[in-house]
Amino acid sequence: APSATPATDGSVTRKKKIAIMTSGGDSPGMNGVVRACVRMAIHLDCDAFCVYEGYEGLVRGGDYIRQMEWHDVRGWLSEGGTLIGTARCMEFYERPGRMKAAKNMILNGIDALIICGGDGSLTGADRFRAEWPSLLKELVDTNQLTAEEVAPYSHLNIVGLVGSIDNDLSGTDATIGCYSALARICEMVDYIEATASSHSRAFVIEVMGRHCGWLALMAGVATGADFIFIPEKPREDNWREEMCAVIQRHRTLGKRKTIVIVAEGAHDRYGNRISPEMIHELLADKKGLALDTRITTLGHVQRGGTAVAYDRMLSTLQGVEAVRAVIEATPETETCFIAITENKIVRKPLMEAVQATKSVSKAIEAHDFDLAMSLRDTEFSDQYRSYMMTTTVQLDKQLLPTEKRMKIGFINVGAPAGGMNAAIRAGVAYCLSRGHEPIAIHNGFAGFSRHHGDKPLGAVRPFDWLEVDGWASKGGSEIGTNRELPSESGMEEIANLIEQYRFDGLFLIGGFEAFHAVSQLRKARDQYPSLCIPMALLPATVSNNVPGTEYSLGSDTCLNELVSYCDKIKQSASATRRRVFVIETQGGKCGYIATVAGLGVGASAVYTPEEGVSLDMLAADVRHLKEVFAHDKGQSRAGRLILINEKSSNVYNAKLIADIIREEAHNRFESRDSIPGHVQQGGVPSAMDRCRATRLAIKCIEHIETFGRNAHNRVKKEPLSAAVIGIKGASVVFSPMETLEANETDWPNRRQKASYWFDIKEVVDVLGGRPLHRTPE
Ligand code: ATP
Repeated sequence: APSATPATDGSVTRKKKIAIMTSGGDSPGMNGVVRACVRMAIHLDCDAFCVYEGYEGLVRGGDYIRQMEWHDVRGWLSEGGTLIGTARCMEFYERPGRMKAAKNMILNGIDALIICGGDGSLTGADRFRAEWPSLLKELVDTNQLTAEEVAPYSHLNIVGLVGSIDNDLSGTDATIGCYSALARICEMVDYIEATASSHSRAFVIEVMGRHCGWLALMAGVATGADFIFIPEKPREDNWREEMCAVIQRHRTLGKRKTIVIVAEGAHDRYGNRISPEMIHELLADKKGLALDTRITTLGHVQRGGTAVAYDRMLSTLQGVEAVRAVIEATPETETCFIAITENKIVRKPLMEAVQATKSVSKAIEAHDFDLAMSLRDTEFSDQYRSYMMTTTVQLDKQLLPTEKRMKIGFINVGAPAGGMNAAIRAGVAYCLSRGHEPIAIHNGFAGFSRHHGDKPLGAVRPFDWLEVDGWASKGGSEIGTNRELPSESGMEEIANLIEQYRFDGLFLIGGFEAFHAVSQLRKARDQYPSLCIPMALLPATVSNNVPGTEYSLGSDTCLNELVSYCDKIKQSASATRRRVFVIETQGGKCGYIATVAGLGVGASAVYTPEEGVSLDMLAADVRHLKEVFAHDKGQSRAGRLILINEKSSNVYNAKLIADIIREEAHNRFESRDSIPGHVQQGGVPSAMDRCRATRLAIKCIEHIETFGRNAHNRVKKEPLSAAVIGIKGASVVFSPMETLEANETDWPNRRQKASYWFDIKEVVDVLGGRPLHRTPE
């Protein structure tokens, strides 16, 4: 019998039943979707169901459609693949198969279906929805169901989620799983590079992507590959000569390794496939480059493994949004899917996106490659440009006239963060392609001011491209970074040095100190005219606390480190099971890292400086843990996690909280504290940090370039002459320092005033089953 809840007017309304399914090729993050959908549905007073084995399960019915409880999806975030299975289903392509599926949905009382899959799966879903009324009619006409039985289901409510490693769906910047696959590829390429370099070899690496070159392109950007082939943008007819010339040039510069990345679907302008073997033959040709060349086909490792932090966040937030969308939908609502544009999760019409995706394939088939490129998202074409700009292919093709060329100082300020080096590499490459003179200022403002005098060129020197070219995947800060502010180094000294070196612009990369530095420099402009040069700040800090952006370089690397740390810790409890870990995260006075890591590992509670920690809160959380362990019949084989940001409270720290929990648990469960510390700054930067570093750094230099040389007067008048680049909602924007300083900065706490991620905090609490408490005043 259907479960029922009494409504406020005393009548009984049936609980809505929401089913979740994964379909098509599996992708990391699908389990996060299922977990989020199941728990959100239950939280919003609906019944949650899973359809196992994709459309196959829908067609077969019976045990393939199962109701899910809250604890059924425990620990799913850290599992790869899809735990509810996926399959290719031939029967669903035909109407009789879809009829069986419709009948099973009604027999199970399913009101809404959330499907996570690729464009095929979503096309199938839309077809199913369009046909629904006629399927019901036929079911009644053929006496398989009665009119009464079908009556409550006259409209099929469907929402799509895009799960695919290829990132091939138009209308969304990222699909669930694509950043995990990219991370895997970059990890492999990093390994291969080490051996390639040792033997001075060339490697041709084939990656997935039959119609979509996103993986190959982004891997090219993230690893600084020598040459790439993608389906959307085939090379010119002379690609053989071009590739050999580029590689020859890199070798002449002194490079000991050659990496060529080829998408599975790579071809020339006439649609003839370009295979790794063809490339191998060219590189190894005794009469040509004669390189010792190997082919590596990455294959299914790209699909496997657990989801990276970003995919855990994306799958969870999109899963939550999908449940909201099905609940809000009316028969008039257009069928939607959940997309992400830059940093904003949005609902978009499903069929439009599927059509646009198909148009890309058609354009490629018709050899209309400009159209294919234009149909991809802005980020894709931006990154294509980034790639071309940062390989020597174009280093001398886009030179500016001499009088427009600038001397630009590059400086790192604050703690090191993943992506700083990739940003510098990209900025330098862009400068070189335009004829600018990029200059390294070593060790921040401290290095700039102190090494002057006896060794005036020691800390300030031009970049050497061969050296910088190897920085794409390097962690830390190669030019050195320092926390000192210009005021501490001596503003007059800094102003004099800028004049002395004749800098026309300054490109800063760093965290809150860098932000503070730009603010100081801007304010000192009236006093020191030499500071009237354009300055652009690219935020880079694990804390992600810089005003003007929702994302700073390094925060993704940090989240990945934290998530894998927490996964391991959680796993370590599998022998004892009843253990709570209290883990202290970095982040300064900003709770972003703690919160998003908490989202990614399914934390039972997260404590942040923004919210603080109170006795009430602790009491409620301890009570909750007691309940959870009392009901845990051993289904879950891992421990539970609480994350606390290092500056959440002056009194309660990880150790004290762990002690309190232990004391209260009365031996029914135990607890431990753990501090990952500097591990969080990461070793090798994440693929996302490297790619974003490249894209944003180029934009920063372009921005500086718009001012040109000797623009003192314009710089004074134009607020954007001291600007911060950031991802804000659905766009990449420059914000004037002046506005950020005055309106968006919480100076005492060194963080942004309002933060988009406060909403994420609520999701962590809801999905972690945390009893909702009042925020302390
Ligand atoms: P990926 O390409 O990322 O592996 P996908 O969702 O595109 O994922 P497909 O194999 O194309 O994978 O589709 C998965 C399933 O969706 C199919 O096996 C089939 O059951 C159903 N499906 C796909 N296209 C249609 C369609 N046009 N009509 C009905 N059902 C479809």
